[in-house]
Amino acid sequence: MKTNMKKILIILAFTSVFFCAEAGTIKVVTTLTDLRSITELIGGNKVSVTSIATGYQNPHFVDPKPSYIISLSNADLFVTVGLDLETGWSPQLLASSRNTKIQKGAAGYVDASEGVGLLQVPTSANRAEGDIHIYGNPHYWLDPMNGKVIARNIANGLERIDPSNKSTYETNLQAFYKNIDAKMQDWQAKMAPFKGTKVIAYHNEWVYFEKRFGLQIVDFMEPKPGIPPTPSQLVKVINEVKSNNIKVIISSPYFTTSSSDVVVKQTGAKAVTLATSVGAFAPVKNYFDLFDYDIAQLTAALK
Ligand SMILES: [Zn+2]
Repeated sequence: MKTNMKKILIILAFTSVFFCAEAGTIKVVTTLTDLRSITELIGGNKVSVTSIATGYQNPHFVDPKPSYIISLSNADLFVTVGLDLETGWSPQLLASSRNTKIQKGAAGYVDASEGVGLLQVPTSANRAEGDIHIYGNPHYWLDPMNGKVIARNIANGLERIDPSNKSTYETNLQAFYKNIDAKMQDWQAKMAPFKGTKVIAYHNEWVYFEKRFGLQIVDFMEPKPGIPPTPSQLVKVINEVKSNNIKVIISSPYFTTSSSDVVVKQTGAKAVTLATSVGAFAPVKNYFDLFDYDIAQLTAALK
């Protein structure tokens, strides 16, 4: 090798070491954008956060890409929704990363569901029927009050791996709690006129939102979570919409509208696509925007 080339390589090696040490930020990888948003709010300038899934992807089904493994292999902290939400993709990515700091049970692993009051925990689990909610409903981040539990879990994780900045994380956590509580009053007030309103949803992912804001989800376009709508399910839904005078069908950005369109045509109900995660639509830039957006869309449709 020529001396010049050697020199360049040595300089490159030193600068990369220098930059790694210099950056000083905690590298966090989250499975979902909602967890990314909350981590950014708690971590502030101490963290740099990437999310594997985008906000408009079905969180149950994410195609693994080599770039995800690379980010995971460099991460200091990993944050997951848990239960069986990401079962189809995240455990494999985590294993492939070979990063011992962020494996389950390690200090850099955060299961955001810890301490969340789970809904719809089945008494007997049977994945053979296609069910993908076998440990209870995993879409708990769609209740802003659960956002506070998630934030506490993330702060705990950051404090485990970066105890020197504990006071920053605690201050940011308290600010997050305060903001959620303030926004909750506004959200509850906007939803109050629609208490008990019956709606249909595409996938069973609104149960926490429903309970918090007083909607009543009568049925789903999917006959079972993860099983696409069948003709017999559509007939059942059409009858329910007619007999209950249901005005709104809630869908998500990653489902085709073809089956909702059938119900809309047959009944005159409206289909509304809500954001299930941060980044689903351009205005939904953070965890607070998520509820601002959904409540605006819903109340407009229900009026
Ligand atoms: Zn689901």
